[in-house]
Amino acid sequence: MISTKATVVSNAHLSCGIYKLVLSIPDMPEISCGQFAMVSCGNADGILLKRPISIHDFDNKTVTLLYEAAGKGTKALSQMQESVDLDIILPLGQGFEIKNYKRIALVGGGLGVFPLFSVIRQHADVEYSAYLGARDSSHLVCADSFIGRCARVRLATDDGSAGEKTYVTSLFKEDLARYGFDAIFACGPKPMLKALKAITKDTDIPVFVSMEERMGCGFGACLTCTCKTSSGNKRVCADGPVFDINEVIL
Ligand SMILES: Cc1cc2nc3c(=O)[nH]c(=O)nc-3n(C[C@H](O)[C@H](O)[C@H](O)COP(=O)(O)OP(=O)(O)OC[C@H]3O[C@@H](n4cnc5c(N)ncnc54)[C@H](O)[C@@H]3O)c2cc1C
Repeated sequence: MISTKATVVSNAHLSCGIYKLVLSIPDMPEISCGQFAMVSCGNADGILLKRPISIHDFDNKTVTLLYEAAGKGTKALSQMQESVDLDIILPLGQGFEIKNYKRIALVGGGLGVFPLFSVIRQHADVEYSAYLGARDSSHLVCADSFIGRCARVRLATDDGSAGEKTYVTSLFKEDLARYGFDAIFACGPKPMLKALKAITKDTDIPVFVSMEERMGCGFGACLTCTCKTSSGNKRVCADGPVFDINEVIL
């Protein structure tokens, strides 16, 4: 983990208040898929705390973050122009571990789709099946990046404007017995994760989920982001964000 300055290479509005921020980092640390960064959104009142954003993509010079301008901090971030320097701490947390998995199902809902792409980018030699959901086609901002890199990509939207008009977990359920997955990696809203837990409870396939909670420091000191697990409260920032689905109480 390093605390450093990053320079904005680009900060483009994609759709529906979702931005793609590319940052250049001179002293790039080693990153693993599923980790996140704490990003400074400026010095204005009320946004002094850095905000947690998942690492969507990375190479040895840049990291790419996809974020929704949701509140004060991320709205200020969306105003950052090219060439501006900002403070960042990365990489943080325990990400997804590939182990010896050969066939992985990726299940993402809403903003939870964003970190799953880092898995594919880091481990291109695995067979992926991606199940991606959003409320409508304009919120599925990065689905195209999965196409061509996955053996199959199935899309679900609430209004049927892209893919099928259903829940992403329903698409996943249809395929669960079909493709012999070695592991399932997921990120999305809690109702989606709960549905996934119910669907997979009678299988012995390991399921790992990336959790999100409001966060203060990002590295385990402030205990703001605890989540309930079968072995007591755990810190999403330092013990997670990725947990075994059987461990977290959803
Ligand atoms: C590990 C982790 C990874 C994340 N990755 C991404 C990502 O890749 N892209 C992205 O757009 N967002 C991501 N988030 C959520 C993002 O951190 C919040 O949207 C952001 O901190 C909100 O800050 P704000 O100042 O804009 O809004 P605030 O004014 O603080 O809040 C605005 C809204 O966002 C909600 N919110 C605040 N913090 C969180 C949070 N931690 N999780 C969920 N909702 C929150 C609030 O309840 C409120 O509805 C991630 C969160 C965590 C913990």
